[in-house]
Amino acid sequence: MKPARFEYAAPHTLHEAVSLLQQHEDEDVKILAGGQSLVPLLNMRMARPELLVDLNRIGELQYIREEDGWLAIGAMTRKRAVEESELVRQRQPVLFEATKLVGHPQIRNRGTVGGSMAHADPAAEYPALALVLGAEMRAVGPGGERRIAAEDFFQSYLMTALEPVEVLTEVRVPVLEAETGWSFLEVARRHGDFALGGATALVRLDGGGSISQARIVLFGLSAGSVRLEEVEGLLIGQRPGDALYEEAGALASRGLEDPLSDTHASAEYRRHLAGVLTKRALGEAVGRLGAGQPSEEGRG
Ligand SMILES: Cc1cc2nc3c(=O)[nH]c(=O)nc-3n(C[C@H](O)[C@H](O)[C@H](O)COP(=O)(O)OP(=O)(O)OC[C@H]3O[C@@H](n4cnc5c(N)ncnc54)[C@H](O)[C@@H]3O)c2cc1C
Repeated sequence: MKPARFEYAAPHTLHEAVSLLQQHEDEDVKILAGGQSLVPLLNMRMARPELLVDLNRIGELQYIREEDGWLAIGAMTRKRAVEESELVRQRQPVLFEATKLVGHPQIRNRGTVGGSMAHADPAAEYPALALVLGAEMRAVGPGGERRIAAEDFFQSYLMTALEPVEVLTEVRVPVLEAETGWSFLEVARRHGDFALGGATALVRLDGGGSISQARIVLFGLSAGSVRLEEVEGLLIGQRPGDALYEEAGALASRGLEDPLSDTHASAEYRRHLAGVLTKRALGEAVGRLGAGQPSEEGRG
């Protein structure tokens, strides 16, 4: 399959890229990052932009650094760089482990951190990570930089708060606080496939062993990643244990709105997964407390 005709521009700086977007504001323009989602859409002619603005020559958008308790990751950083980063492994083990579940090595060699966030696929790992970790997105447009909290960034199926004239430039995730238990689980038919569903959880306990903080996000089950605030509320102040995880799973399953139904899995199966994954993620997060190290391998 071949894409429809388009013009192509490959700016060398962020400033040039934003100027191009602004000059062509009235046309159908697409930004090209790793191309792992966009190129198939072009080839199938599900996207027919008049102009592609390729960010691959903009070196200033590729970095991973620690700043004031955050990991700042340039939008054009390849997932492979995240997977190979000792800084990420040490400071944000959830991101480190979850990255290994994104597609195959070939996809991670090209696919970018910013591309996954901007594409906002409901089954993608990165938007779920952004929500559970409380990430911040930075975008630059003609009017300057905008900072957008993850919960405001992801709007619905493949939709974000980015304006057509904006480039997502940086994704910031907080360094994982000590004594935080975490889990990132997904169910996929084969390793490397998009997940049929997944769950990620962060848990902290108070001095008495009760849950003092909990964040849980499900992905791949409905139109976007969803944070389970009702379930989090149920957990606070409770002693962790199987009965509590069971109750949390039942609430997650009941509360899942409009589960997806497609050729891969029925809505009923996805509702079931919401409960099972929530229960398991909580058990794994609490079980990891005190261990402090990433697990040996991801799963999927
Ligand atoms: C076989 C296969 C399996 C895959 N499996 C998974 C998987 O298991 N999990 C998963 O999460 N993903 C998976 N992917 C998708 C992959 O992770 C993509 O890399 C990712 O979704 C998009 O990143 P990209 O850099 O390739 O972006 P592109 O494909 O270049 O762009 C995607 C979209 O984001 C926009 N965009 C990109 N960068 C920016 C930016 N900086 N500012 C504004 N807009 C921008 C583009 O205009 C486009 O609309 C898979 C892909 C393939 C081909």
